[in-house]
Amino acid sequence: MKNLDYNDTQLSKKILSEIKEVSSSLGDITIMEFCGTHTHSIFRFGIRDLLPQNITMLSGPGCPVCVTDNRDIDYSLALAEMPDTIITTFGDMIKVPGSSKSLQDIKAEGKDIRIVYSCMSALEIAEQNPKKNVIFLGVGFETTAPTVAGAIIEAERKGIDNFFVYSMHKLTPPAMRSILELGEVKLNGILGPGHVSTVIGSEAWKFLPDDYKIPIAIAGFDIIDILLGIRALLEMIRDKNPRVMNTYLRAVKPEGNKLAQDMMYEVFEVADSYWRGLGKLPESGLRIKEKYKDFDASKQFPINISEANEHRLCRCGEVIRGVISPLECPLFDEVCSPSNPVGPCMVSSEGTCSAYYLYGVRR
Ligand code: SF4
Repeated sequence: MKNLDYNDTQLSKKILSEIKEVSSSLGDITIMEFCGTHTHSIFRFGIRDLLPQNITMLSGPGCPVCVTDNRDIDYSLALAEMPDTIITTFGDMIKVPGSSKSLQDIKAEGKDIRIVYSCMSALEIAEQNPKKNVIFLGVGFETTAPTVAGAIIEAERKGIDNFFVYSMHKLTPPAMRSILELGEVKLNGILGPGHVSTVIGSEAWKFLPDDYKIPIAIAGFDIIDILLGIRALLEMIRDKNPRVMNTYLRAVKPEGNKLAQDMMYEVFEVADSYWRGLGKLPESGLRIKEKYKDFDASKQFPINISEANEHRLCRCGEVIRGVISPLECPLFDEVCSPSNPVGPCMVSSEGTCSAYYLYGVRR
């Protein structure tokens, strides 16, 4: 597999014809792709249109910005309003609307909000601005958390006392479990997230076949990766043999990346967390350990967020759970677009609404 061209057209056609053959013996099949990057890749390659009609792809909750609860967005906005503060964040967060405004609005009002591409850049900004509190907005899944942990460890090593992280990090398996427990969508298989699984390992998904009798195929992000994942799922469904199938062997190991896990759990501990669309999920988030409390923005700048409101017509929660498609939201393309996003699913480069919009899917 090492020298495979993962965009090879002939090979794609061959796997597609195998998918058609396997699916011809099956009834209607619904597969959820957990990951927002998969969602965008599936649209970019036109995979939904290439699949047989009895195969439906449904987008799941794997967009970290989209699932960040509005009270966390409001908390971030309140941090940004503080004097002598520099907020550092990934670009996707800038336009996400909180209850009344966004980081972009606060930046326009004159506050110092900077887009960074890594938490280490935020640390550098803290070193360059010793008289300011530099706060990094930690949004992401298991893929992001180890690098944020690394920055906190480095800040401690260097004795930097004006660097803080507001941790909104989330763990992916509890969200998948929640969707299955809710039972709102009937799923026959899960296309597992490639990036997350490089850290947590394929074995972390074993609860899916064990507890829910549902197969999962972990896949990469090129067209052949995704088609191989779908083919593996269909074969497991056909054989009534749900398992964890790792089709992203070049990146994912059964045990994951121990180094990244160790770094993550050196700094963070598992805690309950609020998810947009899913509510409070037990043991689904990462908070900073007491040992590193000096870097924890939630401890150093406690702010009471009484009530957080979402736009009353935005249906991001249902989109995140796969219950509706963005086309069923009355605001899609009428009011809500990437230049005027009403909800995070339209803002984020991993959001389902933005995928529909960008790839021209319309009612
Ligand atoms: Fe929310 Fe806009 Fe998506 Fe509707 S189209 S669910 S308003 S983000």
